[in-house]
Amino acid sequence: MITSCRCVAIAGSVLILAWLAALQSASSQTTAAVPAKTEQVPPTCDRAQFRVLVDVGHTAQAVGARSARGLPEFDFNLRLAKEIDERLISAGFGKTGLMVTEGPAQLSLTRRVARTNSLAPDLLLSIHHDSVPDSFLQKWEYEGSEHTFSDRFKGHSIFVSWDNPIRSLSVRFARFLGLQLKTHGLQYTPHYTRSFMGHRQRVLVDAEAGVYRYDQLRVLRETTVPSVLLEAGSIINRDEELLLDSADHRALISAAVAEAVENSCAGMPSRRMAQPKR
Ligand SMILES: [Zn+2]
Repeated sequence: MITSCRCVAIAGSVLILAWLAALQSASSQTTAAVPAKTEQVPPTCDRAQFRVLVDVGHTAQAVGARSARGLPEFDFNLRLAKEIDERLISAGFGKTGLMVTEGPAQLSLTRRVARTNSLAPDLLLSIHHDSVPDSFLQKWEYEGSEHTFSDRFKGHSIFVSWDNPIRSLSVRFARFLGLQLKTHGLQYTPHYTRSFMGHRQRVLVDAEAGVYRYDQLRVLRETTVPSVLLEAGSIINRDEELLLDSADHRALISAAVAEAVENSCAGMPSRRMAQPKR
């Protein structure tokens, strides 16, 4: 897993260079109009120029949650993010980049925010897989070892920060993503609205698309680009862990992301083109 992560990180560095070159060659600028929340967008997406950065949540050193069968969240994040990256590229979004960060948790957050702001993509999508508060965990034995699980919740969830400087475009992409996941038959989890979640309780800002507000997340609030975090599902749920391990299910998520990116791209001028003249 560490070896594969380094390969991806190197690939990301190549993409970084390509993007910086593109930034330096930008010659025309317009003012980005912020579209109102709408599901009707004009078909004006320039896929070849639109830049999506797919962020792999956590690191090989700080792996995030553990699944019901003891597997690290980072492995789930990396696999799904790579498949989303490939899907976007095959759909014509050739400037999509995959961001793999290394190191301890807080340092990696600082690094991923800095890298995102340096690259200035049109969209940032951070990929995670969910767990539950420790108080909900139960013990079980799997393949001779004791693990913890909770089958209480299942489903994906989408988060945006009200502190993101381009909140309207973040919310717009989040809504498109939620609606596309719904179109593909996937249901979001409503449990973040419940009081028993304590300090993890969130405000559901879009009940149709399953978008929650999570202002404090650094990868959403400190980034200066439209930013959305997707918890693709609950790996602490024994059945959903198996579902998320299925290639067919991951293909549905990847397809939904690609369609949401297409929706966001259409009618949204490239932010590279919206930068002030130097
Ligand atoms: Zn996570």
